[in-house]
Amino acid sequence: METVQNFINGQITTSNSQRFSPIFNPATGEQTGQVVLSDELETAAAITSAELAFPRWAKTSPLKRSRVMFAFKALLEANKDALARLISNEHGKVFSDAIGEITRGLEVVEYACGIPHLQKGEHSANVGTGVDSHSLMQPLGVCVGITPFNFPAMVPMWMFPVAIATGNTFVLKPSEKDPSLALQLAAMLKEAGLPDGVFNVVNGDKQAVDVLLTDHRVQAVSFVGSTPIAEYIYSTASTHGKRCQALGGAKNHCLLMPDADLDMATNAIMGAAYGSAGERCMALSVVVAVGDETADQLIGKLKTQIQAMRVGPGIVDGIENDMGPVITAQHRAKICGFISEGESQGASLLVDGRSLTIDGYEAGYFVGPTLFDNVSPEMTIYQEEIFGPVLAIVRVPNYQTALELINRNEYGNGTAIFTRDGETAREFSENVLAGMVGVNVPIPVPMAFHSFGGWKRSIFGPLNVHGSDGVRFYTRMKTVTSRWPASVRLEEHGSSFTMPTM
Ligand code: NAD
Repeated sequence: METVQNFINGQITTSNSQRFSPIFNPATGEQTGQVVLSDELETAAAITSAELAFPRWAKTSPLKRSRVMFAFKALLEANKDALARLISNEHGKVFSDAIGEITRGLEVVEYACGIPHLQKGEHSANVGTGVDSHSLMQPLGVCVGITPFNFPAMVPMWMFPVAIATGNTFVLKPSEKDPSLALQLAAMLKEAGLPDGVFNVVNGDKQAVDVLLTDHRVQAVSFVGSTPIAEYIYSTASTHGKRCQALGGAKNHCLLMPDADLDMATNAIMGAAYGSAGERCMALSVVVAVGDETADQLIGKLKTQIQAMRVGPGIVDGIENDMGPVITAQHRAKICGFISEGESQGASLLVDGRSLTIDGYEAGYFVGPTLFDNVSPEMTIYQEEIFGPVLAIVRVPNYQTALELINRNEYGNGTAIFTRDGETAREFSENVLAGMVGVNVPIPVPMAFHSFGGWKRSIFGPLNVHGSDGVRFYTRMKTVTSRWPASVRLEEHGSSFTMPTM
């Protein structure tokens, strides 16, 4: 059985830790390996490696850093299928979805290839007579990424391409549930020409994370995961003087107006609710249907589509399933518990995924697509992030009630409206309290050259990931104001003791 180790200073290192976490294939339920849970010393060694590599890498010209990103991009493209297979085996998502996540990560690498342009800073000539100002966007030093299980490729790539391209060094702490991909990325970065120590992977749990959050050499922490942990990461990292962006959980609502194109909306809702078994922070888990007729019509169409869904392993020869298993047996049990609670609290369970088994994969962690109607805001299935293939329909009488419901929710990651009316869509985009809004687009994940992040308890910290926010997060601005001697004659000017106003 393979043990997934760490990658420190350009090589796989063998850990001394006696603590391990099992890795499973969620489609079969078999344990396929284990990952080392690093101790304090090993985590500190990864930070040391990044610290020592920083001065040289920070002084490497942006063009050379960008060329490493170009080479890394080419390797990602060449190895896409193998990487997607690895993701599918450890995470469970279907192969085409794994390809999709790699592509979205690769787009951030493409964005980072433009770093000579993105990191130029600003310049103003003659801010005063003979005085010029320019800004330098300098790297911070050692940056850390702590990432969730649900996107083992994309979420790390939201972070490290921008961090590295701007001249920082990086320590990645991947999810212990699907850690193997991170080591593949590390090997490819090395092959792309990245100097040893610039990118390190340390595997582990809270013990390793706490070292990363408190070590004085770490300058910035990027986190993506659940809200309670995001809050802990943000408060601990901030208390220890670090810059921090911590993205948390979600409960994304879709507002369905009576005038929406229902076929289009149904297709979109199906993919957004059940794609990746609902294990996406941008999954749509609540449909707020305006009017009973809208809800009834949607339900009719959803039921037909759900019946046609192919659920099974992420990779089987010749078959492309729509939805795979969830990540662990514990998570499966938790999702089934939520479904039972929804039923006992009075929601109408229209499609029940609890008893699904797949021939030949009886021990896999499968939950079938599940649909609830008549869900109300007091119910647990409305309030909690289920992170599984469970869709709740809430019926409301009008647009205003729908908007107020969405805005009252503690999360504000993404949301979508389905309507043919431009005025309603505009009103919604303007007034909804969420960070990412789709108009007839179910999963409005911003492209790499925009920034990704929610509102309310879906994020802690002021700057989102990638795009211009990413560049700002991983750099600090230094503004130089300069004047050359020829423009100053002591006998003409003398000294001035007042605030310079130019
Ligand atoms: P998680 O919070 O359990 O784990 C995330 C990371 O934190 C992992 O690396 C894990 O090892 C570490 N961790 C877990 N417990 C810790 C603790 N007590 N102390 C220190 N570190 C700890 O999240 P998950 O289950 O891996 O991922 C699913 C969650 O991530 C969902 O809530 C989902 O909404 C969220 N998510 C959010 C976004 C976003 O962009 N907002 C994107 C993807 C996933």
